[in-house]
Amino acid sequence: MAKLYFRYGTMGSAKTLNLLAVAHNYRQQGKRVLLLKPSMDARFGSNTITSRAGLEMEADVLVADATDLFDIDFSCINCILVDEAQFFSIHHIQQLRDIALIKDVPVICYGLRTDFKGKLFPGSMRLMELADSIEEIKATCFFCNKKSTMNLRHIDGRAAIDGPTIQLGAEESYFPACYRCYYDQIKNAEEALVSCQT
Ligand SMILES: [Zn+2]
Repeated sequence: MAKLYFRYGTMGSAKTLNLLAVAHNYRQQGKRVLLLKPSMDARFGSNTITSRAGLEMEADVLVADATDLFDIDFSCINCILVDEAQFFSIHHIQQLRDIALIKDVPVICYGLRTDFKGKLFPGSMRLMELADSIEEIKATCFFCNKKSTMNLRHIDGRAAIDGPTIQLGAEESYFPACYRCYYDQIKNAEEALVSCQT
């Protein structure tokens, strides 16, 4: 039985670079991979999966809310790779789980575990529940040298406490952070907010 994998990491952990390397390896061996990404992620042009290191490949399928993943032709596909899997719906993660089983194709999902408030994305939650294999892609805290576990969001140079969870195209305002650095910056932002209000 083919497995469902969830490889998660913070911002800047080279998740997409890892995905593109896996795709490259499969293709070098003459095998076929299918690249999926959410249709809402239009940071680098709608069809392209681009790593921050500059490598890119065309996505084969842009997954929208109405997409039925079982409509895809999986014959001769050796591996399915999913970028930005945190933005997939619970329903689509369930479909990927079942596709790995029924079509016997490994599915490797890359994504963030939590948002800037430290809350699981729904897609990531379902992956944590269903994946056969869960692996952390490690990255270093932007502010010290510990391992990052949180995604700190900055707006105008200050840690953001609230706001919409999804703000695509604002990559430069996110930092990988360890919990200590995350905690300190959130506390400072909260105190600044309180002092402004009094
Ligand atoms: Zn730190």
